[in-house]
Amino acid sequence: MSGITIALSKGRIFDETLPLLAAAGIVPADNPETSRKLILGTNRPDVRIVIVRASDTPTYVQYGAADLGIAGKDVLLEHGGAGLYQPLDLEIAKCRMSVAVQRGFDYEQAVRRGARLRVATKYIDTARQHFAGKGVHVDLIKLYGSMELAPLAGLAEAIVDLVSSGGTLKANDLVEVEHIMPISSRLIVNQAALKVKRERLQPVIDAFAAAVAARAGVPA
Ligand code: ATP
Ligand code: MG
Repeated sequence: MSGITIALSKGRIFDETLPLLAAAGIVPADNPETSRKLILGTNRPDVRIVIVRASDTPTYVQYGAADLGIAGKDVLLEHGGAGLYQPLDLEIAKCRMSVAVQRGFDYEQAVRRGARLRVATKYIDTARQHFAGKGVHVDLIKLYGSMELAPLAGLAEAIVDLVSSGGTLKANDLVEVEHIMPISSRLIVNQAALKVKRERLQPVIDAFAAAVAARAGVPA
């Protein structure tokens, strides 16, 4: 296929990508929130958008089912990045990855005592690296969502999750005890596609870069 396929997830990434697409002259023909379509046409006959689960975006791009995609750093770290170029931090879908515990649980003391902590998370590899780097012994428990429930239900003492306002933690009586890293979303590009279709892909990449620079108030 000589056109361009872009992989996006519904929700914040799609919404925050719309202005970047517009800067590249690309306007989706449908709204994924109201349409049940998984493949969206655009105003450009040579550009289509595939709607995927956020954690599946790197996989579609890695195998070339999509040429371009937009994925959070959290997702890219777990994926590993094989077969992908990551030319641009788009500075969208910003949040942070943090450790949180139930209010009243003395995390610092547990770490000092060398206690073995049960940590529930969707981000097993990132969490393993973080705690290994600190020399903290952990049993990691893989979850697929609603990490906040784990300490409350007695599944784990701590969670590793994404935090933006902190409202969800607060509503569930949890407190952030450690920042692991800042998170934002990146443009990802299939490495082989960039070689074969560079004349089609490079203008889109350049338009995204210019839009990001313009938003940050920096000349491109
Ligand atoms: P799903 O909802 O399908 O289980 P998900 O929660 O990873 O998957 P989104 O909620 O759309 O999907 O999140 C997509 C990306 O946005 C994440 O990978 C992350 O980089 C970022 N993100 C997640 N939560 C927040 C947040 N609260 N604020 C800002 N960005 C976030
Ligand atoms: Mg989510």
